[in-house]
Amino acid sequence: MSLLPSSQQLCLFLDVDGTLVDLAARPEDVSVPLGLIDDLVAAADRVGGALALISGRSIASIDRLFKPLRFRAAGVHGAELRRVNDGPTEMAEIVSLPADLRARLCNLADVFPGTLAEDKKASVALHYRGRPDLRDELMQAIAAELVREADPTLVVLPGHFVFDVKRKGYNKGTALASFMRMPPFKGRTPLVIGDDVTDEYAFRAALRLGGYAFSVARQVPGVTGLFESPTEVREWLKRQRLDVEEAQARKEEAPDFLSPELGELPARRIAGG
Ligand SMILES: [Mg+2]
Repeated sequence: MSLLPSSQQLCLFLDVDGTLVDLAARPEDVSVPLGLIDDLVAAADRVGGALALISGRSIASIDRLFKPLRFRAAGVHGAELRRVNDGPTEMAEIVSLPADLRARLCNLADVFPGTLAEDKKASVALHYRGRPDLRDELMQAIAAELVREADPTLVVLPGHFVFDVKRKGYNKGTALASFMRMPPFKGRTPLVIGDDVTDEYAFRAALRLGGYAFSVARQVPGVTGLFESPTEVREWLKRQRLDVEEAQARKEEAPDFLSPELGELPARRIAGG
């Protein structure tokens, strides 16, 4: 029995870092494993193009990873949206942060050596993976900047070794909802895969719509299931592509998406003997 609806009824929302690609010390250091882009293209084809990457990264940064492809995507936690493959990036002007605040936040990376600032216009991310010991001091310094700014629409979004300063009102859940209102997503059932607390907005949005949410490497109450690692997510995607190729070789119709019942995956098969 398959857990998932047919490929004609399914749409996919995939986080990037820690989900499709392994986490790295700095966002620019991650690598896209061989074959992943092909597997994503195959998955997108199978769901009629209804696949979007949803990330805290800017869409420009997502594109650098998946070059030359430019997938449908939500960047900067939903501040940026690309509705069609290869299409323009839309950004609500209201969400961008004042230039002087961005400069002051970026300056914190100099104040705290070993941390890294990423100016995404709609948000500034301060990464402290290289200096987890500075977490609390960095958070206090960010809070001090926000007190100085005195703008109640600003929030700090904590993620995996990162603080993202952004405006309220949008997140990965609102991004998912935006996609769900437009073709080819509209009318389909969403399936989300993500590893971080920021993905939980998308999990809740998908589950509210009767969809599916899978966490990666982290137990999250209420989700449909768990992938142990980005490797397992990639194995799952690859399996889907191989299933299609095998069906084509047999001149059969492409099968539906295999549900991520994780016992099916190679890693678990080995673990289970
Ligand atoms: Mg992630």
